[in-house]
Amino acid sequence: MSAVFFRVSSVFLLLAPVAGAFAQTPEFTRQDTLRGTVTKERAWWDLTYYHLDVQVNPGDSTIRGVNTVQYRVLEPNQKMQLDLQAPMQIEKVVQNGRELKFKRDGNAYFIQLSEKQTKGDINQLNVTFGGKPVVSENPPWSGGLTWKRDSNGDPFVANSNQGDGASLWWPCKDHMYDEPDSMLISVTVPEHLMDVSNGKLRRVEERNDSTRTFHWFVSNPINNYGVNISVADYAHFSETYQGEKGRLDCDYYVLKENLEKAKAQFRDVPRMLQAFEHWFGPYPFYEDGYKLVEVPYLGMEHQSAVTYGNGYRNGYRGNDLSGTGWGLKFDFIIIHESGHEWFANNITYQDIADMWIHESFTNYSESLFVEYHYGKEAGNAYVIGTRRGIKNDKPIIGLYNVNHSGSGDMYPKGGNMLHTLRQVVNDDEKWRSILRGLNRDFYHQTVTTQQIEGYLSKHTGRDLSAFFDQYLRDVRIPKLEYQFAGNKLRYRWSNSVPGFDMPVKVTLGGKERWLEPTTAWQEIKKGKGVSSLKVDPNFYVEAAEAAPAP
Ligand SMILES: [Zn+2]
Repeated sequence: MSAVFFRVSSVFLLLAPVAGAFAQTPEFTRQDTLRGTVTKERAWWDLTYYHLDVQVNPGDSTIRGVNTVQYRVLEPNQKMQLDLQAPMQIEKVVQNGRELKFKRDGNAYFIQLSEKQTKGDINQLNVTFGGKPVVSENPPWSGGLTWKRDSNGDPFVANSNQGDGASLWWPCKDHMYDEPDSMLISVTVPEHLMDVSNGKLRRVEERNDSTRTFHWFVSNPINNYGVNISVADYAHFSETYQGEKGRLDCDYYVLKENLEKAKAQFRDVPRMLQAFEHWFGPYPFYEDGYKLVEVPYLGMEHQSAVTYGNGYRNGYRGNDLSGTGWGLKFDFIIIHESGHEWFANNITYQDIADMWIHESFTNYSESLFVEYHYGKEAGNAYVIGTRRGIKNDKPIIGLYNVNHSGSGDMYPKGGNMLHTLRQVVNDDEKWRSILRGLNRDFYHQTVTTQQIEGYLSKHTGRDLSAFFDQYLRDVRIPKLEYQFAGNKLRYRWSNSVPGFDMPVKVTLGGKERWLEPTTAWQEIKKGKGVSSLKVDPNFYVEAAEAAPAP
């Protein structure tokens, strides 16, 4: 993917009011900076293609292989950064038949290119690597490989590495701003096993050493944490979905022992596609198909190969995160992880500090799924119900350029922020056209929060900067303070950032009406005897009657 959209701003955060939220600034190391910054050894070249060719050895939990890195020269430079985390090691780097020298600095490798790198040229190098990658202690939240066995004793292997990075197990440009335009993933496994990766299976190569190689081709830009291997003695079934862009191949790979359960549970896939194409526009990867692949951990949004381990139960491991009952009407992992095909894989953050772009929209997508199938009241109840998971512990946006993500509030609070914004828009068709517009205008791009906030301001016709500062960069919940004074209602926003001016719908004396509060007191005439005010519960705000004015 083109580097044109590269513009990671740390200035914005410093200027934004954060209410002393970083009293305890985490400590960062040189390694965090090498990992999280678009260093000059990264900025001069634009990824065009990877061919990742790996052998997965369940016998000794090792991975060996070669990654071919193809790139376009944007500016001449002779030093290139690639990343691979210990204990994995790069063994050899070759360009046009010549072995290159490299220096290692922790998880970053600086390769000295001997041939002149000329602007506009497309070059490639072959990186040989191997080792025993980190085993995940708590997949998918801690990155690494998972080596398990199915009930027949066959290997059941998968990777998950969001945050920790794809460089846990293969050498790559491990920063999210740049994606290859396409990728070939060739995975060699013992011959009785199968590998499922991203994209479409081009061919299976039989080898004479009791192994087979599965060649998967991804014909769209792919983010590095989405690159996936899932190895098992899989059963396969499939269906075709008639969607907005025509025929979509849906392929399912599950352990043989779960085949019948999967055929029933995976009926949520066409329901998901129906709801999300309605709200967000066409599934973004028709050419690569949609796959749902069983793995030995809960699940992850691997692009066009969503991984699944929710135990063939509805809810989140059988639980309803909203506490309303609506969360038990669907399989959380199928709906949530697939929602990421639009927000994470289609529209991808450049810096993990902006992870809300993935998780807030995807949390919100759960309620849109509920609304599509069970009605608007049900969707409202679901998203409001998820507020019980909000902590307001630290800001949703993390720190830039050091691979740091913000509060877990990016899920339920972020979803409720978007639901609140929908109330402000107060026009469901317009709101839907904005959600579809995001997926159209940022199609297959990596983006910054400024781009998403700017888009939403432009298309809602409101300056939303104070709104986003409040919900993404502050931990306070805005409070509508009001007073009844004679025949007047006085009101203002408090507990808020300066300039917070969100309109809000209230019921005043039994009648719905809109208020346009700012942080300064305002007043309107109220009807005689009116002494009650209730804020529409769809707004994620607080309200309190203030003591009467002296
Ligand atoms: Zn998610």
